[in-house]
Amino acid sequence: MLIVMEAGARPEQIEAVVRHVERMGFKAHPIPGAHRTAIGITGQAGAADPEVLENYPGVKEVIRVSHAYKLVSREAKPDDSVINVGGVDVGGKGIVVVGGPCAVESLDQSRAIAEGIKNGGGQLYRGGAYKPRTSPYSFQGLGEKGLEILAKVREEFDLPVVTEAIDHESLALVDQYADCIQIGARNMQNFSLLKAAGRARKAVLLKRGMSATLEELLLSAEYIMSEGNYNVILCERGVRTFADHTRNTLDLSVVPAIKRISHLPILVDPSHGTGKRNKVAPMSRAAIAVGADGVLIEVHHKPEEALKLYETVTKPGAMSVWSSEAGGRREALLQRNPKLAAAITPAVTSSNAAPMKLP
Ligand code: PEP
Ligand code: MN
Repeated sequence: MLIVMEAGARPEQIEAVVRHVERMGFKAHPIPGAHRTAIGITGQAGAADPEVLENYPGVKEVIRVSHAYKLVSREAKPDDSVINVGGVDVGGKGIVVVGGPCAVESLDQSRAIAEGIKNGGGQLYRGGAYKPRTSPYSFQGLGEKGLEILAKVREEFDLPVVTEAIDHESLALVDQYADCIQIGARNMQNFSLLKAAGRARKAVLLKRGMSATLEELLLSAEYIMSEGNYNVILCERGVRTFADHTRNTLDLSVVPAIKRISHLPILVDPSHGTGKRNKVAPMSRAAIAVGADGVLIEVHHKPEEALKLYETVTKPGAMSVWSSEAGGRREALLQRNPKLAAAITPAVTSSNAAPMKLP
């Protein structure tokens, strides 16, 4: 259920609706938009009928939302969300480049990579202190020591930090040290972790599970938002298919599909998405072409010595070529790449994404 307020609704009118929703035993989520505020109602359906709210002053309409996802949808918020990560905007018209090593290995390693990222025009630093590994014998990350290293890197290079939380314990620490909490592909449907991330203070980067549908990804984002954290960034990182020329199949078509139905920003991770260093730059360009809000790239100054997955890794030099192309606004990127501009139809750019119609 969604309550759409009139464009000129006063704060006390919004507050009165929120109080009524809460008295009925539901949770109210005021979502301010460019033109009007909507109030999402979540919670188990009870005897109370929120449609009585139609008579409240300042209420334009009460909409019964037919999908399971509500707060993530453009019905709740027609305009694109812009999520602030330590002072860097993700979403809207800009394009962000997030770079860093798969795993934080040492202060020296992290500093060397951060320098490459900063010089290459990257805006966010991402490195794993907690690594979800297929084998229990693989390097599991430095834990809190890794978070301390990330905090030093942020200080020295003025790069806000994104890092993964793998369980409740690491989530509490990541929330404390980092600017953005990554929930990885393997945890996309760890519902208790998603709810805890929804109670965290920092923005959440939610990666698509390797066999998750679009609806499952959006419902996982809904879990986070339904707990009150509206700062969610989605990330396409490839899905498992029969194709074996790449590690995963980067599903770029999910980007315009999500843009049509959700206001949340979406990044693309071509490093995990292809698992091939030589595919990172072309798939990054393609990601921006289909409307992604940025890319997430694994970078290592000495890929051959990286403790993990060096196949996916781009050297900082190669990244700087890409970042200087993408570091600016989408329009600037397109101006410099007339062929890319020609390949893009208006239908797929985020600014033209049509709000979804109610059935
Ligand atoms: C990672 O980001 O290093 C990672 C493990 O990614 P994913 O969860 O997408 O596999
Ligand atoms: Mn990785």
